[in-house]
Order: sequence, then structure tokens, then C-alpha cells
Amino acid sequence: MSTETLTALKTTLDPRSWSEDPDELAPHVRDWRNRYRGVTPLLLKPATTDEVSRILSLCNRDNVAITPQSGNTSLVGGSIPQGEVVLSLKRMNAIGKIDATNESLTCEAGVIVETVQNTAIEQGKLFPLSLGAQGSAMIGGLISTNAGGVHVLRYGMMRDLVLGLQVVLPDGRVLSDLKGLRKDNTGYDLKQLFIGAEGTLGVVTAATVKLFPRPASTAVALAAVDSPAKAVELLTHVKNKTGGGVAAFELMSRSGLNLAVAHLPDARHPIKIDQAWTVLIELVSAEPDRAQPIMEKTLGTAFEHGLIGDAALAQTQAQAKAFWTLRESIPEAERTHGKAVKHDISVPVSHISVFMEEATRTVESMLENAFIIAFGHVGDGNIHFNVTREEPGAGENFVAAAAAVTEAIYDLVDKHGGSISAEHGVGILKRRELARRKPVHVQVMRAIKSALDPNGVMNPRVLLGED
Ligand SMILES: Cc1cc2nc3c(=O)[nH]c(=O)nc-3n(C[C@H](O)[C@H](O)[C@H](O)COP(=O)(O)OP(=O)(O)OC[C@H]3O[C@@H](n4cnc5c(N)ncnc54)[C@H](O)[C@@H]3O)c2cc1C
Repeated sequence: MSTETLTALKTTLDPRSWSEDPDELAPHVRDWRNRYRGVTPLLLKPATTDEVSRILSLCNRDNVAITPQSGNTSLVGGSIPQGEVVLSLKRMNAIGKIDATNESLTCEAGVIVETVQNTAIEQGKLFPLSLGAQGSAMIGGLISTNAGGVHVLRYGMMRDLVLGLQVVLPDGRVLSDLKGLRKDNTGYDLKQLFIGAEGTLGVVTAATVKLFPRPASTAVALAAVDSPAKAVELLTHVKNKTGGGVAAFELMSRSGLNLAVAHLPDARHPIKIDQAWTVLIELVSAEPDRAQPIMEKTLGTAFEHGLIGDAALAQTQAQAKAFWTLRESIPEAERTHGKAVKHDISVPVSHISVFMEEATRTVESMLENAFIIAFGHVGDGNIHFNVTREEPGAGENFVAAAAAVTEAIYDLVDKHGGSISAEHGVGILKRRELARRKPVHVQVMRAIKSALDPNGVMNPRVLLGED
């Protein structure tokens, strides 16, 4: 970037809206997994949409590439600059209008997800998107990655939860629709273009999201099953018995659960894990004290039908939280264990069990001493099928050696009509695979990008980028 552009950027902004301090820049140029490390000449941290607009029009004029960044919890390297300026949304963190009757909440893009959840609770409402990174991830990041999480089964992905967006386009124009309408048939649904665009089409500066009534009762249970096939049978059983009350249905391999228990201080296995898999089920009801008896009855009949072995129903909120903590700690425990080759994939729920059998066989035939940690949102057909070594401390060498495994797993995903990215996005990690496996989709996406971003300044290496 030329010194003139750098100076122009600094002078057009409030002095609090940029930084060159290496200590402040440091957390913005490395990712959560420590896999991607980058560089940037300048951290931009605008406080208003107007500042974002001025930054984009200047960068567009001078062909300066920009990496937008929210909570920097991307697992695919999408938020790490390699020479681009970083545009952090962290100072745009105001909650705007909450309309309880319309069940909608408007906020700036830099609001942390947990803050949105807590604000909704204060209004007696629910913002349902919930994921392990919710203490750091921000609304703008969730939108730009079309995040999923643990409640997709009942409430949908981010794409389903957005009523409107404010986006600064690459040339600085502001496209704004924060009216909170559920019905608006005035042509193309433009907001959907920016949801899941990973910062390649513009910068999301604000959003209006859906709220829901809070369930009056919730029940959480763990149940042991002997195979993914049994887990899917159990899912059908629970859905049929609860009439839409299943809020979450998560599957964990014994390897993943063991890692989480070893990682967490004072944690223990709440149930006998003599079976290879454990399912976490969350049921909700609009009636007080209703979810628990429904869960008890449903687990009872599941046991009678031979679907589950040991099971534990949380008796207190603290127990329910402890069950969830076990599930949510698997990624962190895995990170501590060492490098892993990770696959955030989805297949139709009806294919889960065959896919898992074939993928396990394939990995075991290709890698000696492979240690598979599989877990995820099986209720949506989404599995994190991760491969590492049993002994802790696998490094980048292992990741490089296991690249062929990824190829084989993605071939199986294609065979079963799945997706190579269920919820984490494409970023840097999967862009080549995407271009190879979905060439026409990528051509169409590139046509859209060149219409909106003809100078290619928005996150140019991510999603559609080439080396
Ligand atoms: C422990 C852990 C658990 C996780 N669990 C889940 C899970 O269950 N489900 C799930 O879906 N994901 C999960 N993730 C991945 C991650 O949290 C999500 O992808 C999240 O949506 C990223 O949000 P962020 O605010 O951190 O965005 P960032 O990481 O900052 O950015 C993500 C992408 O969006 C772009 N971007 C960010 N903000 C904007 C903006 N305002 N305008 C335009 N582009 C922007 C960035 O350039 C980047 O490409 C997990 C991550 C961790 C570390």
C-alpha cells in the first residue's frame, strides 16, 4: 500500500479509529487455532458506518485490499490478513432497537453473540444461535459465515435468523434495510448475498435479527448409543415423540468425550461410556415443568426399543450446563491435544451412518494409528470428522502427511450428496477444493463479485481467491 493511501486513511478517520501499534495488531493477525499467521500495515477500527464507508471508497479508489474482521474465531483462515488492511468491527458494538412485539433486535456488527443472547433474555425473548465461540464471535462474523451452532435443528442457521442488514458496498455506498419486516417482496432478497459471503462483497455494519419466545421449560440429557446409525434412529424417535420440541441433538465419539473430560478440571463422565457414542439431547416446551417429563418418557421408550444404553437426565440447571460444557469443550480439548486434520462436513441425515462407516474405514486404511475425533450437530447432518494421532502433540508434519485423507473424505462427502463446508465457511482452507468441486457455482459467485467489487478489494484471497 502506498504511503499516500496510508496517510489518506489515517487523516480521513478519527485518531481512535486506526492503529499501527504492534501490540494492538498482534491478536488481529493470528487465528484461534494458531494455524494462520498474517501481517497488516494498518488496523482500522471504525466507530460508525460513515467511517466504514469512507475507508471502503478510499481503498477502492486506490486498489487497497481489505480483510474485515469481527471476533476472529474463524476456523478456516478467513479473517487473517496477508498484507491487507484489517477492518475490525470491534468498536461498532451498540445494541439498537428491540421490538418485542415484532420479535426483532437491531444491533451493530461488532456486538458479541453472548451480548445479543443476554439482551434478548432481558426482554423475555430468545436469540437462539448458540456456539462454542459465542463469548468472542460477533454478529457481523456470524452473518458473514452463515454460522450454525447447536440449535439449527429448531431455529435454522444465521441465514434464517436475519431480517435485514446494513452493508457498506466496496465503493462506499450504503445498502440499508433494518426495518425488521418478515414479508417484503420487492425483488431480489439482497441480504442473502452478503450472508455467508465471508467479507468478499462488502462490510456488514448492522443487522436486524429474529427473536423468539423463550421456552418455559428445558430438559437436557446424555444417552449412550452404540453407533451413529442408532443415534439417527434415536433422533427420529425423539422427533416423533416430542412434536418439534428437539432444540439440539449432538453426537460425540468416545474419543472426543474422553479428551473433554481429561481437559476440564473436575469433570467426570456423567454416564457409563461403555458404548462408543454419546448423544446430548435438549428438549424445550412452552409449558412450565413439561420438558423434563417428556424427556424422561422419551428416553424410557428409547431404552425399551434398544436404542440407548445408559442415560442421564440433568436434574438442575448446573447439571445441564455441565453436560453442555462437556460437549462445547471438545474443540478446545482437541486443540490442546495437538494438530488435527479437520472436516466440517454435512450429508443428508439419512446418510450419516453409512458415511461415518465408510469414512472411518477409509481413514484407518490410509493412516496408521489414526485417532478419529468425531462430534457435531448430527441432527442437521453436520459432523466434525477430525483426524489426529492418539499420542498428544501431532504437528504441522502430521497435517501435511494427512492431506490425502481430506481428499478421500471429501470424495465420500460428494458421493453421499453432502457439503465440504457445513457451517465454518470456506475461507483460505477450502477455496481450492470448492473451485474444483463446484466450478459452476464458483463462476457464478465470481460474476456477482465482479459486479459489486470490480477492483477486487474485498477479502480477495478468501472463498473465491486464488493463490
Ligand atoms: C471453539 C469454537 C467453536 C466454534 N463452533 C462453531 C459452531 O458450532 N458453528 C459455527 O458455525 N461456527 C463455529 N465456530 C466458527 C466461528 O466461531 C464462526 O465461523 C463465527 O461465525 C465467526 O464469527 P467471528 O465474529 O469470529 O468472525 P471472524 O472470524 O472475524 O470472521 C469470519 C469471516 O467473516 C468475515 N467478516 C467478519 N466480520 C465481517 C463483517 N462485519 N462484514 C463482512 N465480513 C465480515 C471475515 O473476513 C471472515 O472471512 C467455532 C469456532 C471456535 C473457535
